[in-house]
Amino acid sequence: MSSENNPLLQDWQTPYGLPPFDQILPEHFSPAFATAILLHLDELNTLAAQTSLPDFANTVESFANAGLLLARIQGVFENLTASETSPALEAIELTLAPQLAAHRNAVYQQDGVFIRLDALYQQRRDLGLNTEKMRLLERIHLDFVRNGAKLSGEPRLRFAAIVAELATLCTQFAQNVRSDEAEYRLVLNHENDLAGLPDSIKSSAKQAAADRGVDGYVITLSRSSVVPFLTYSSRRDLREVAHKAWKARGENAGNADNRPIAPRILALRLEQSQLLGYANFADYALSDRMAGTPQAALDLLQKVWTPALKRVLEEQADLQTLAAELGEPLDIQPWDWFYLAEQQRLARFDLDDAEIKPYFALENMIAAAFDCAHRLFGLSFKERFDVPLYHPDARLWEVSRQGAVIGLFIGDNFSRTSKQGGAWMHEFRSQSRSEGQRIVPIVINNNNFSKAPAGQATLLSFDDVRTLFHEFGHGLHGLLSDVEYRQLAGPAVARDYVELPSQLYENWAEQDEVLKKHALHIETGAAIPDALLAKIKNARFFNQGFETVRYLGSALLDLQIHLDLSSDVNDISAFEAATLKKIGLPKAVGINHRLPHFGHIFASDGYAAGYYVYMWAEVLEADAFDAFIESGNPFDPATAERLYQHIYSVGNSVDPAQSYLAFRGHTADVGPLLGKRGLN
Ligand SMILES: [Zn+2]
Repeated sequence: MSSENNPLLQDWQTPYGLPPFDQILPEHFSPAFATAILLHLDELNTLAAQTSLPDFANTVESFANAGLLLARIQGVFENLTASETSPALEAIELTLAPQLAAHRNAVYQQDGVFIRLDALYQQRRDLGLNTEKMRLLERIHLDFVRNGAKLSGEPRLRFAAIVAELATLCTQFAQNVRSDEAEYRLVLNHENDLAGLPDSIKSSAKQAAADRGVDGYVITLSRSSVVPFLTYSSRRDLREVAHKAWKARGENAGNADNRPIAPRILALRLEQSQLLGYANFADYALSDRMAGTPQAALDLLQKVWTPALKRVLEEQADLQTLAAELGEPLDIQPWDWFYLAEQQRLARFDLDDAEIKPYFALENMIAAAFDCAHRLFGLSFKERFDVPLYHPDARLWEVSRQGAVIGLFIGDNFSRTSKQGGAWMHEFRSQSRSEGQRIVPIVINNNNFSKAPAGQATLLSFDDVRTLFHEFGHGLHGLLSDVEYRQLAGPAVARDYVELPSQLYENWAEQDEVLKKHALHIETGAAIPDALLAKIKNARFFNQGFETVRYLGSALLDLQIHLDLSSDVNDISAFEAATLKKIGLPKAVGINHRLPHFGHIFASDGYAAGYYVYMWAEVLEADAFDAFIESGNPFDPATAERLYQHIYSVGNSVDPAQSYLAFRGHTADVGPLLGKRGLN
């Protein structure tokens, strides 16, 4: 295929240079990637071949500006494979993963480029660079070193081979989980299979069945389908079936079995880290994060583990009392906890999701998230209907500030079989400046809410609302970014800092004045009553032991498996069982992600030895929101301005610890977090 016929290789004559989704076909990707990779290598060869002495512009800036075409194509491809994939795209993804890894090696092992960069790096303090330029030079230099630029001979070849093999294995891991999620269905045919389920869940299950061409009702392994089922179904036998299937993702014998893949990933990561001089992968990964060392992360998790374990045992005792009253078995199993906790929540706080949900229509909550961004940061949102996107459920907004469009926001909120589970923010294009002109970022939020049947409004649980705000917080980090270089834009910060803007934003979803304005009953339009708001607040600490321990269990497993050199990790299921036993995790509680489907740590390197980051950022977030509480106004303009100046707009152009200090005036400790979770 010639480049004239390939939309991925042409100038995009679309509004704001959005990808021309309606023209892009799967077969365009392989030739476009091949062309873009060659172009990138050409650019780097030209950079390396310069005869003039290295300076910031001809070396650092040239490197930063190389590979733009590749980044553009990758942005489209990664988004499509995550949120609207197909067998054709999955096949390309598998072939492409080692090719992209090989390219990554070629980039970071380009000696001519590294020699020039390293020369500048050695004299960096004499170059008169501003803070952002210095950060860019240091960032790029470190990327080279961490990707093996200082290796030579056999170790260098081995490093490259490891990177390529890891890319294939991680892609396979992610595809296996997606396949287990897409293929599973619990079909409910009889009226008594639906016992306990509220109407909203029944109608989502009916829609899921219709989507799959099945009669009756279907529960899937998407979180927004299976968790509500576990929460409300009074059919213990069916809860057990659903829970076991959910927890067995990636652990089923056959083509999608992740048990042989994960140990191989771990062994390769260990070898890779040791080639670079680290004792293990956790040391390597955390040396480039705020925490600095695995011990610092473990210390934090341990500080929370002790009070959380104490709390969850109290919660378990309470649930046993309730189980006795209800005539349910006292031997509480993981498939009982969600259900019993919901029964207890109803009894203790008179809080019923069926009563809450009509106040949380998706449309109203989108408006609420936008309104908070308007009040805090002066943003306005205008939806556009005239631009083709990649799926009818995806929506596009122009985002303006002080009269100028500063970014584009795509919201893709519904679950479907072609989308991976969970919720995430991604970018088609990062913010930067070119000759002083702002290149506007194109930011996307993906959620997995169960879509209501045609003609009905999608209603969210309060958890869903939090997720919506969380991802939108990431979105704002991308949209408000105001830096020179895309490599330092918005979310391109340390992994244990990137959850600060997102988790912080969840706080606004809980503000009375926000809810009184936007949580309007879907039928009557009435604002959420004070009594119901009070009930939601009273229930805030309920089940927090359970939530915290489930998270910590996964976070500790992740660090341990990337630290522990002595244990035999050929059997990840056995490693998991032994580790959880050692820390004393109650069997009725379970963990958020079991190893065979722990995509955070095995689908890519991103969160490997890094699931702890949510709690690390929560320490900052809980302390950060206190700044608004102390001002007496959740929208205090002066605090919001500091938040914009030091957190949401600076990306990685400033050291995160310094940005935080500049915003808050002090460093954060674990106290506000324990308070927020009611664990103090
Ligand atoms: Zn997040």
